[in-house]
Amino acid sequence: MPCQSSDELKKLVKEARTVTKHGQVADYIPALGKVNAHDLSIAINYPDGRCISAGDIERKISLQSISKVISLALVLMDRNKEYVFERVGMEPTGDPFNSVAKLESMTPSKPLNPMINAGALAVTHMIKGNSVDERFQRLLTFIRELAGNDTIQYNKEIARSEFETAHLNRALCYFLKQHRIIDEDVEQLIDLYTKQCAIEMNCLDLSRIGVVFALDGGDPQTGKQIMPANIARICKTFMVTCGMYNASGEFAIKIGIPAKSGVSGGIMGAVPGKFGIGIFGPALDDKGNSIAGIKLLELLSKNYQLSMF
Ligand code: GLN
Repeated sequence: MPCQSSDELKKLVKEARTVTKHGQVADYIPALGKVNAHDLSIAINYPDGRCISAGDIERKISLQSISKVISLALVLMDRNKEYVFERVGMEPTGDPFNSVAKLESMTPSKPLNPMINAGALAVTHMIKGNSVDERFQRLLTFIRELAGNDTIQYNKEIARSEFETAHLNRALCYFLKQHRIIDEDVEQLIDLYTKQCAIEMNCLDLSRIGVVFALDGGDPQTGKQIMPANIARICKTFMVTCGMYNASGEFAIKIGIPAKSGVSGGIMGAVPGKFGIGIFGPALDDKGNSIAGIKLLELLSKNYQLSMF
């Protein structure tokens, strides 16, 4: 079913777009800098397959940190909860996503949660497979199933660009290695992680992944359970407590839906039991979240009373 362009959404997009001038595109990964800062698009995907949209929803974006919630789901299916949470915690940090500040705050040392870079690197390390290639293909296959789209790929230029500049992430990996949370070659893990972050899709795909989380892991078309409901719930809880980095508390109060953002300007939202949301707006606020994307979600949440609290 094609996605219907919606006049109501167009109006909200127009209003939200006015804040893009206060934001900035991420360029610490050089290849991410090549976008139009004023773009803003949204797709909303319902469990019955209906879809409404506004803006250029065909434009592809790399998942970046949005991928962290998906790798977590895969790893929770690959291993048991105890194994995963022995190596990564469940607590928000209140610090930026790439911060090193609280790495030693747990005893024994482990990253506080799977949504900060240190925790996400530990999670990616836990993806099962005999090689980087095999582990990446398993993640990609899972993402394709969640999005209901077999053509999803990763962007080689973005992956290479991040691989070449991921100095802080390498430092985080060495910390994890020293504390025996990971035991693989750091370059190998960075290779896998940067490919994971560079997986690209459009807003429509993103909204379809959102609806699967909204339905506790069920495929909206076939009803098949793509992931166990308890794993979808763990992921949604992390989206609420840590999904918008150190803006998660304010986001929960103002908007009140599980959501995960990435520095490419993407946001994936899952309104429990109702629908999935995919947003692309590359101008970021000072915490690294899409500035117009947050504004748009604020308008949506207010207009349609979406807060789950
Ligand atoms: N690939 C990015 C990084 O590791 C993901 C961070 C993000 O989207 N916040 O820096």
